Amino acid sequence: MVAKGRTIYIAGAGIAGLTLALALAKFGATVVVLERTQTLQTAGAGIQISPNARCVLDRLGLSRQLTQSAFVPQAIDIYPFRRPRPLISLQIGQEAQERFGAPYAVIHRADLAEILFNACRRFANIDIQFGVRQFDLETHARGLSITVERTDHNTINARAFAFIGADGVHSCTRTLILSGPESEYSGYVAWRTMIPISMLADTGIIARDRTSLLWGPGFHAVAYPHPRHDRFNVALFTKEKLDDPQKISSVQTPSLPRMLLKSPQIEAIMENAIAGWSMWPLNAVSTSTWHKGPVGLIGDAAHAMLPFQAQGAAMGIEDAATLAPLLVTETDAQSALARYQSLRQKRVDRVQRISARNGVIYHMEWPFSLARDMVVSAQGPTGHFDRLNWLYGYDPNPEINTVQTIQHFT
Ligand SMILES: Cc1cc2nc3c(=O)[nH]c(=O)nc-3n(C[C@H](O)[C@H](O)[C@H](O)COP(=O)(O)OP(=O)(O)OC[C@H]3O[C@@H](n4cnc5c(N)ncnc54)[C@H](O)[C@@H]3O)c2cc1C
Repeated sequence: MVAKGRTIYIAGAGIAGLTLALALAKFGATVVVLERTQTLQTAGAGIQISPNARCVLDRLGLSRQLTQSAFVPQAIDIYPFRRPRPLISLQIGQEAQERFGAPYAVIHRADLAEILFNACRRFANIDIQFGVRQFDLETHARGLSITVERTDHNTINARAFAFIGADGVHSCTRTLILSGPESEYSGYVAWRTMIPISMLADTGIIARDRTSLLWGPGFHAVAYPHPRHDRFNVALFTKEKLDDPQKISSVQTPSLPRMLLKSPQIEAIMENAIAGWSMWPLNAVSTSTWHKGPVGLIGDAAHAMLPFQAQGAAMGIEDAATLAPLLVTETDAQSALARYQSLRQKRVDRVQRISARNGVIYHMEWPFSLARDMVVSAQGPTGHFDRLNWLYGYDPNPEINTVQTIQHFT
C-alpha cells in the first residue's frame, strides 16, 4: 500500500539525489531537493552506465533520452603496458543487451545530469531548491522538523517524513547529523582530460569507437569516446602523496614518471591533451552508519568507492531504486531505512572490495603482470560477464512494478 502525502527531503541534486527524487515522485510522494550550488552540477567528464544502473533508469522512463545521448562501445580493448595491440577485446555492446536486457553505455556527465533534472522538472511534486547554505534537523515524537538557510538569506521551516543525505563523498548529513566518519583519501588520484576524437583516433593507437583500458606498473587509464561531443574522455589513475586530499585542482600536465611514456597509448594521450588536465583526489567512505531515526544516506554519502569498477554512480542509482518504494510503503521512516540498509550494504561492500582489488590488479608490475594477462586471456572475450553476472544482472527492486505508481505531471 502506498501511503499518500509523505514529504521527503533530499540533500544533494547529484545522480543519486535526482534518481531518488524521480523514483519517489512516481510513487506520489512530495519531494524537496536541497542543493548547495546555484545551478545543476555538471563537473567531471564521462561516466559509464552499466546494465544494472541502466535498467533502473529505463524503468524511470529515461530510456529514450539515454539512448539519444549515450554511446554504446562494442568492446573494451585491454592494453597491458607497452603493447601496441590489445591483449583482448571484452565484448560489452550487443553482449550486454542480450544478457542483461540493457546496454553498457558511456555518457557525458552533463548530459546525464540534464536528463535527470529535466525528468524531475516534469513532476509538480518535486521542488529543487538551489543555493542552499545549510540545513538543520530536529527529530521529535511527531516526526522531523527541518530548517533550511538559503544563500539569498531566506529561511524555510518545514516538516518531513524523512531526510535523505545524497550530498556526496564529503556529506555533512553523514558527518554532522549522523556523527559518521569523514571520507578517507585512498592514495590514488584521477587525472582527467578531454581530447578531440579525431586527434587521438588518427594516431591509430586506440580505436575511435571502443573503450580502451590501459594497464601499467603503478597506473591505469581509461579512454572512451563521446561522439555527440566529438571528444574522448580520458581518466588516468596514479598514486600520489597529497597535502590536501579534499582539493580538486586544475593543472597543466600530470607529473608522470618518464617510464609511463613508454606506453604508446599514454604517449599519444599526453601529446594530444591540449585542453589541460584536472586532478581529482579519490576519497572513499566506509561506514555502517547509513541511518538514524528518519535520516538516511544514499550514494557516495554512504559508500563512496574507488572508480575502478565504474560502479559509484551505479550503486547510488540502485540505492534510490531500493529506498523509494520502502519510504512510501513502510509505516515509519526508521524501518524503511533499516530495511534499505539490510538489502543494500552487503552488495555495496562487495562492489567496494572489487573496485579496490582492481587497483592492485591493473597496476601490477612485471612478472606478476604476466600471470594476470594469462588469466585475462584465458577468460575469453565474454568471461568478464560470466564472472560479474551478480553485478550487472542484479535487480535492485524486483517488486517495483507491483507497487502502484502515481504520476503528477506539471
Ligand atoms: C574519475 C571518476 C570516474 C568515475 N566513473 C564512474 C563510472 O564510470 N560509473 C559510475 O557508476 N561511477 C563512476 N564514478 C563515481 C561517480 O562519479 C560517483 O559515485 C557519483 O557521481 C556519486 O553521485 P552522488 O549523487 O552520490 O554524489 P555527487 O555526484 O557528489 O552529488 C552530491 C551533490 O550534493 C551536493 N551537496 C554537497 N553538499 C551539500 C550540502 N551540504 N547541501 C546541499 N547539497 C550538497 C553537491 O553539490 C552535489 O550536487 C567515477 C568517479 C570518478 C572520480
